[in-house]
Amino acid sequence: MKYTSTRDTAVEADSATAVVGGISEDGGLYVPQVFPKLDYKQFFGLDYVERADKVLRAFFDFNVDGVAKAAYSTFDTDEPAPTVKLDDNLFVLELWHGRTHAFKDMALSVLPHLLVRAKAQKCETDKTLILVATSGDTGKAALEGFKDVDGTEVCVFYPTDGVSRVQKLAMQTQDGNNVLAVGITGNFDDAQGSVKAAFRDDRLKDLLKDNNIKMSSANSINIGRLVPQIAYYFSAYCDLVDSGEIKAGDKIDFVVPTGNFGNILAGWYAHNMGLPISKLVCASNRNNVLTDFIETGIYDINREFYKTDSPSMDILVSSNLERLIFETSGRNSELTLKRMKDLATAGRYSVDEREMEKIREVFAADYADDEDIEDAIADMFDEYGYLIDTHTAAAYAVAARRELVRPTVVVSTANPYKFAPAVLRALGEKVSGEATEAMFSRLEDLTAMEVPSSLKEVFYKSVRFNETIAPKDIIEYIAARYGK
Ligand SMILES: *Cc1c(COP(=O)(O)O)cnc(C)c1O
Repeated sequence: MKYTSTRDTAVEADSATAVVGGISEDGGLYVPQVFPKLDYKQFFGLDYVERADKVLRAFFDFNVDGVAKAAYSTFDTDEPAPTVKLDDNLFVLELWHGRTHAFKDMALSVLPHLLVRAKAQKCETDKTLILVATSGDTGKAALEGFKDVDGTEVCVFYPTDGVSRVQKLAMQTQDGNNVLAVGITGNFDDAQGSVKAAFRDDRLKDLLKDNNIKMSSANSINIGRLVPQIAYYFSAYCDLVDSGEIKAGDKIDFVVPTGNFGNILAGWYAHNMGLPISKLVCASNRNNVLTDFIETGIYDINREFYKTDSPSMDILVSSNLERLIFETSGRNSELTLKRMKDLATAGRYSVDEREMEKIREVFAADYADDEDIEDAIADMFDEYGYLIDTHTAAAYAVAARRELVRPTVVVSTANPYKFAPAVLRALGEKVSGEATEAMFSRLEDLTAMEVPSSLKEVFYKSVRFNETIAPKDIIEYIAARYGK
């Protein structure tokens, strides 16, 4: 499988190069030259690891033997991504059984293995500096995934006032000898923008090269993040067939809580590879730039940025949308480059009606504000005795407004304890401020769902990292830290 760049289709890279590099030299994102077809029928009756293994093989030419098995052995269940039935036509796909209890583990437990294998394939001996911009969950999952992995350093930038207390403490108390977490003043978009600029900074590249270090990305711009996520769409579908809920070939819908457009894009890749998906419903929070885009064809970030109870979706620049509009433009990299330039300079771009029709064939979109989200958590709990977090609730709020004409899978992206204060409020409790242990206990009493021990631990572990810097200083910071 060869890869090209969304900003220059003259680029041809092998899969190892794409994973090691993270982002193409021209600033574009790596995409497969052709989508491999995978017959989902060969997934029936298999377990998750076997399914993930087949998906990895379809995209990567280097040796991936045992990668899925090693990655998912860190999960707390034998089923890393179980599908739960709640009602006729209503299912939940739980993607939060990994070490950090958010869906990022689905891919970030795999990526370090992919990187090690890809480097071996390329006989690459330089150290890899993994730079991560995070809205909260990616950072912790990357730190856990890469900690003490030979030949890597991992450095995470998070918006210091834009993540929950539990998310922040989880990163600040991270153990491992090759890890670092740094707060930035500003929001996720500022962090992501500065990290992308670091990848393009030649002076920084040269400086690091003198120390035998190369930068790479663990954000969902890395194709090694995206591919493992394709597996759970196949797996959920096949679970529904295996359990007799649907017949092979029946179409189903997925409703996906969306921020950087990585999760839902993986669903679209699965669709392109032949999985019978009817609609992918993009559910945003109050930062509803994607809802507007899918409605109007105009992507416009000149708008207020809101801090919400679903912080992992507080994003205006959804990086992976670039991969979608590249495809729907007929793989026109010049046009994609122009649009990305427009986004960088004017904060907006537009897509023509013909392309939007293609997008709307598969995608629908809607959003939920904090109040809708609290209502959705309460409704879900009252109706089904099933507890969801604020991000999943955005998807459920959107799903509940739709007529569920066919089996619909709400993609659940975090353990509810990760966002305990808002979940408690939704259940009618008077709480304010950031999460405390008392809140965890209260939530346990109310719901009989157990709090994961690693989430409680953050209150006891000592803080190792508590620096905060300005986004504009990220490049200097990296240079000073790793370039000497
Ligand atoms: C990252 C994240 C999302 C958004 O996923 P994207 O791939 O960025 O669209 C949703 N919910 C949770 C809990 C997350 O951590």
